[in-house]
Amino acid sequence: MRLTGISGNIACAMKQIFAPWRMEYIVSKKPEGCVFCDLPRAGVSEETLVLFKGERAFVIMNRYPYVSGHLMVVPYRHLEHVLLLDPEEWAEMNRLVVSCVQALKAVYQPHGFNIGMNVGQAAGAGIHEHIHTHIIPRWTGDNNLVPVMTETRVIPESLEETWRKLIPEFRKEKKEEKKQES
Ligand SMILES: [Zn+2]
Repeated sequence: MRLTGISGNIACAMKQIFAPWRMEYIVSKKPEGCVFCDLPRAGVSEETLVLFKGERAFVIMNRYPYVSGHLMVVPYRHLEHVLLLDPEEWAEMNRLVVSCVQALKAVYQPHGFNIGMNVGQAAGAGIHEHIHTHIIPRWTGDNNLVPVMTETRVIPESLEETWRKLIPEFRKEKKEEKKQES
């Protein structure tokens, strides 16, 4: 029995309807240099999708998420392996992972989280030359049959909308940090 044909077309249509960002990713001109080095320099904004800039690391939204609210914590230094991180960078990255979980919990109330790093191309890292930690909110049933079959995820809101919902949580954080310093 041939399962391609119609089902293949449906899958294709689904991708275009629910995940236009995937197409955008495929046809987009890959920027030269490193986005994780360039974007924090350009600042916190809806365009860069940077949400928070710490001393040694920053928080940025994934531009091509499989689920809304997919965040990443990234050190400023262009390092390709966790073994190159110094203890201060590790400490700040861990603090920022907690901040991401708090922000996502406050805004989206997910049922769970995937938190982790892919180190190296063999491990599936997209931008393997600059390490980063993924924080992905999860909902019971978000991994159901339709997305699995069509390799798509339903993104219920735009990236800008997600950024605008999350930024107040990270601004709160900055104020609290300043309070502690003074
Ligand atoms: Zn870099």
